[in-house]
Amino acid sequence: MTTPTTLLILGASGDLTSRLLLPAIAQLLQRQPDRALVLRGAGSDDWSDERWQEAVRTAFATVGAEDQVARVAGSTYTKADVTDRDALAGLIAGVEGSLVIYFALPPAVTVAACEKLVDIPLPAGTVLALEKPFGSDEQSAAALNALVTRIVPENQVFRVDHFLGRSTILNIMGVRFANRLVEPVWSADHVEKVLIRYDEALALENRARYYDKAGALVDMIQSHLLQVLAIVAMEQPADLDEIDLRDAMAAALRATRIVGDDPARSTRRARYTAGTIGERSIPAYTDEQGVDPARGTETLAEITCEVDTARWAGVPFTLRSGKALGDRCAEIVVTFRPVRHIPGGLTGRPADGGVLRFSLGPDRIDLELNVNGGDDPFALRRDVLSTGLGKGTLLAYTEVLSEILDGDVALSVRGDAAEQCWRIIQPALDAWRSGAVPMEEYAAGSRGPDDWQTSHGTTA
Ligand code: NDP
Repeated sequence: MTTPTTLLILGASGDLTSRLLLPAIAQLLQRQPDRALVLRGAGSDDWSDERWQEAVRTAFATVGAEDQVARVAGSTYTKADVTDRDALAGLIAGVEGSLVIYFALPPAVTVAACEKLVDIPLPAGTVLALEKPFGSDEQSAAALNALVTRIVPENQVFRVDHFLGRSTILNIMGVRFANRLVEPVWSADHVEKVLIRYDEALALENRARYYDKAGALVDMIQSHLLQVLAIVAMEQPADLDEIDLRDAMAAALRATRIVGDDPARSTRRARYTAGTIGERSIPAYTDEQGVDPARGTETLAEITCEVDTARWAGVPFTLRSGKALGDRCAEIVVTFRPVRHIPGGLTGRPADGGVLRFSLGPDRIDLELNVNGGDDPFALRRDVLSTGLGKGTLLAYTEVLSEILDGDVALSVRGDAAEQCWRIIQPALDAWRSGAVPMEEYAAGSRGPDDWQTSHGTTA
């Protein structure tokens, strides 16, 4: 058995804990028979230990890990306002061994709790696990970073980005860096454009309290898709550790900005109207419970960035994400520049020099090539070579928790990278708030406003 780690979840009665954290803990224990874990929950709801243990049992059952419940059998729950210094200190007092504090709290409450933690003695090596959003703009992200590093050093701060699990990041890097067919053409000389897209078929799903204040740009692009861009655009890191990998990602983000610094031309936003997804009728976003139409929250966002490095200058990177779309689609599409056409030669002049498409979750690549085929040997057509990539057998949150408990922060979002992501989107936030970019509409269950599909050439 390893030395026990205490995992203290603040906000233990909330949605993240029951839906994502507890099943991940269950799966982790299932896969790691030697892992010794002391699980403690705290929150403002008036739960008994029994009520908490019932929540644990229910969540463990969702991943078929009922047999692991015994390993956290003595788990306790404390009703506490974690913004109260003495209450917070009481949760930490008596912890033996190492401690992970997981902030499964509303963002403002996380900040208030961190302010109190500054002068509470913590066990050596305590890790803080913070959920997105990290701040609400560049300044507040910088202030939060300054605050948490007064509590513990940066390499003990884990800013969770569950979107790209470890196996997906390794899959992208494997294709990029292990293939002489790919790496030498991974630049502006050969790549015409890149699309990073996350379309959800889910609508609001009762999450107005959070989502109506965030919107698609903050919810997905600021926090997740810019991390994907960093992996796609970064230079090859010397190593995959917390220094080299995170340095390479941060450097790519520092070089990234909205094309032309002109959100009016390089960003778009839209909101869904009533429609159907499969059998389900979806009300217009503005009619969803808890939505304040006056807020003008977008449910589909698109920004086009440039990465101003020798490798990428001039290549548009389009990031798009939205809710209530007809099909779930999570992909990175790299479109290569057309090659010179042979006059009088092959017919069927291709529009591009091939496309490499990564589908995320399940991970797969499709390499679209221009090939000869059919009856006419002079005629080009499109064909696709496809293969699945390493599956990864764990839930994304299980991978994240495993890294947190091991103190491995290589794939956590470093503080400066979080600030850069806010810096990149800030001109869009400002332009959208001032009305400089019109709010478009699309029917729930459609593929978004009609002309958005063609402007970036995806065929998915
Ligand atoms: P919830 O509102 O469902 O849960 C937050 C929990 O914190 C509630 O149990 C709440 O109790 C409790 N809480 C609030 N204030 C205090 C306080 N002063 N002292 C103690 N407990 C308090 O939010 P989520 O679980 O959805 O989100 C938590 C974090 O995770 C957020 O930062 C969110 O952005 C992030 N996240 C959530 C995801 C999700 O799918 N839910 C996905 C990815 C990230 P009460 O209900 O009594 O107020």
